[in-house]
Amino acid sequence: MKRKFASLFAGFVMLAAMVFALSAGITPAKAETTYQIGTDVTFPPFEFANKHDKYVGIDIELLKAIAKDQGFKVNIKPTSFNGAVQAVQSGQLDGMIAGMSITKEREATFDFSKPYFTSGVVMAVTPNSKTTSLKDLRGKKVAVKTGTSGADYAKSIQKKYGFHIVTFDESNDMYQDVITGNSAACFEDSPVMRYAVRQGTKLKIVTKPVENGPYGFAVKKGHNQKLLRMFNKGLADMKANGEYARITRKYLGAKGSSDTSSDRTFWGLIKQNRSALLGGFEETVWLTIVAIFFATVFGVIVGLLGVVPNKFFNGLSTTLIYIFRGLPLLVLALFIYTGIPSLTNQKIPAFVAGTITLMFNEGAYIAAFVKGGINAVNIGQMEAARSLGLPFGKAMRRVILPQGIRIMIPSFINQFIITLKDTSILSIIGILELTQTGKIIIARNLEGFKVWTIIAVIYLVVITLLTWLSNWVQRRVRL
Ligand code: GLN
Repeated sequence: MKRKFASLFAGFVMLAAMVFALSAGITPAKAETTYQIGTDVTFPPFEFANKHDKYVGIDIELLKAIAKDQGFKVNIKPTSFNGAVQAVQSGQLDGMIAGMSITKEREATFDFSKPYFTSGVVMAVTPNSKTTSLKDLRGKKVAVKTGTSGADYAKSIQKKYGFHIVTFDESNDMYQDVITGNSAACFEDSPVMRYAVRQGTKLKIVTKPVENGPYGFAVKKGHNQKLLRMFNKGLADMKANGEYARITRKYLGAKGSSDTSSDRTFWGLIKQNRSALLGGFEETVWLTIVAIFFATVFGVIVGLLGVVPNKFFNGLSTTLIYIFRGLPLLVLALFIYTGIPSLTNQKIPAFVAGTITLMFNEGAYIAAFVKGGINAVNIGQMEAARSLGLPFGKAMRRVILPQGIRIMIPSFINQFIITLKDTSILSIIGILELTQTGKIIIARNLEGFKVWTIIAVIYLVVITLLTWLSNWVQRRVRL
């Protein structure tokens, strides 16, 4: 009997090893000539996704031109600003270009390229707001973006002007908070705010740019120095050959690259963003399937460990459930994606990190109800089976499990649906699933209400299909 438990345990260890090996195998520890670069995909005109689902903007075009000039390749990762900062610091990404201001504090942990743009922070309010200067902010709320120099600036003057700070991960969420009237104002980089206003964001700028400073391309301090040197050389070339001027003019010139002319009806938006939505949808479904698979394997193993007659395994099962059910999914995702790699110096691709997160979190819930389901089967059943001479394993398989599984099925269905919904949280680590896709589309067209409605409907359709499928399976099993 002991051998069976041992093999169960070995199975679990192998599963964990497999997932980690997969992560190690996909990304070699040393960067090749293709560099993984983080951005802030919701920061037009520096970086955003265009109608054709391509990352564009001053930063992106400049980086691509430099890469071409210097003979390296880049893989642009769709993260938030703060997400990129963390991913570069943990070694998950090789560098970042995100309209990032070169500041003293940042220079402690980043190496910056030569400056490539100068910008400052402005304050924006709704067009007929009575708040027109910093003095009017007393007692009001000010929206800022996590980890940005705008947020630092707000903190530095908060006491003096007596306002409250509300933090958002995306520029557009920050604008919306002001538009809806929750916050009285927001602080944003001047060229970005001006671009947003020109694109139709219902805000106006009321202050002159302050804290003016340069933007730079950044790598983790002491790392990827070759990449940094190439960037500097390429930047000098681009300035010399006129490419730099062409790119900045393209986005900041009178015409700009505008998206205001397109069809803004629901149908129009779906048509324009069809391929992005489809891509996000596929990623969500794929992530859900892979996660459900691993979570079920993990959950069933841990659940069974909780009911075998062995104190050690019982304790292990309880501990795993306690830890992974107790941790918020978001914390677990960040811990696996940015916490572990900064210790091990081993990259974990976002998809793998996301799958491991869901495997542990959803798996812990599955383990809990697997354990509960088995325990719910009358104890007399086990005693009767054993007294008929069945060994524990056989009694479990033949007598207890068939009854237990029936009890568990509704919980399984519930957990699958929750897994699908929870994939949206993984947008935080830059997985391009439906939610992240939505954020990126909105950064371009600022149609928050319509795009979130479309995304919500897609989730509901998938959840309905999943529920139907589960009910169908449930009926079959019941027969
Ligand atoms: N320039 C600001 C900073 O570096 C904002 C950058 C951003 O929001 N992408 O903090």
